[in-house]
Amino acid sequence: MVIKTENLTYVYGQGTPFQKTAVDNVNLTFEGGEIIGVIGHTGSGKSTLIQHFNGLLKPTAGKITLDGEDIWADKSRLRAVRFNVGLVFQYPEYQLFEETVYKDIAFGPKNMGLSEEEIDKRVREAAEFVGLRAELLEKSPFELSGGQKRRVAIAGVIAMEPKVLILDEPTAGLDPKGRNKILDQIKAYHDKVQNTILLVSHSMEDVANYADKVLVMNEAKVFAYDTVENV
Ligand code: ATP
Ligand code: MG
Repeated sequence: MVIKTENLTYVYGQGTPFQKTAVDNVNLTFEGGEIIGVIGHTGSGKSTLIQHFNGLLKPTAGKITLDGEDIWADKSRLRAVRFNVGLVFQYPEYQLFEETVYKDIAFGPKNMGLSEEEIDKRVREAAEFVGLRAELLEKSPFELSGGQKRRVAIAGVIAMEPKVLILDEPTAGLDPKGRNKILDQIKAYHDKVQNTILLVSHSMEDVANYADKVLVMNEAKVFAYDTVENV
């Protein structure tokens, strides 16, 4: 799946005294099948940019296409866009709201109208993939640690088997061992399904060993987009 942005601009609070351009005239193409690290300082626009790729934010100006189709051209297609492009939020609590871990992971596949059997299979596989023990499935997500919550959020998105997987700071708040573990799992998942993965992080260190390409955001603009060696 090819993701393309054309003169993409996003302004928070447009027309108010607090107006802020968070994404400024960005032109990018992601060809598909690669791991792309997205780095940049706090406030450089990483989260704002990536939230456009699954139609969570609507561009203030410019457009975003998936396989050549403007995702906002026909709003009835936004649903399919959300299934194809899975997004794990920077703050995973945002996507945990069911009474059990199992139900949270099953939420996406359920919305896709899959059979109970298929949903069950996907939930268990996704949980195993991110290293959640089976007995945790019946717990409340709110009893879990921060790292485990993030794993639940990741599993919920993986269970939809999206063509594009976007992870916003999946290593935030983890110690070095936990960081490497989760990045190894993400890499293993990529090797298995060959989807596009956007990996947002504060640090080049995090992405250097895992990404094919690196996108560096700076003050709402693309500062660099190239292979790890060239950035
Ligand atoms: P971080 O590394 O801290 O997650 P980021 O690169 O993801 O930062 P964004 O969250 O996209 O950056 O924010 C880009 C800019 O937009 C910042 O100046 C931020 O203050 C502003 N911003 C983000 N969300 C909002 C909002 N809901 N309302 C107003 N301004 C916002
Ligand atoms: Mg962010």
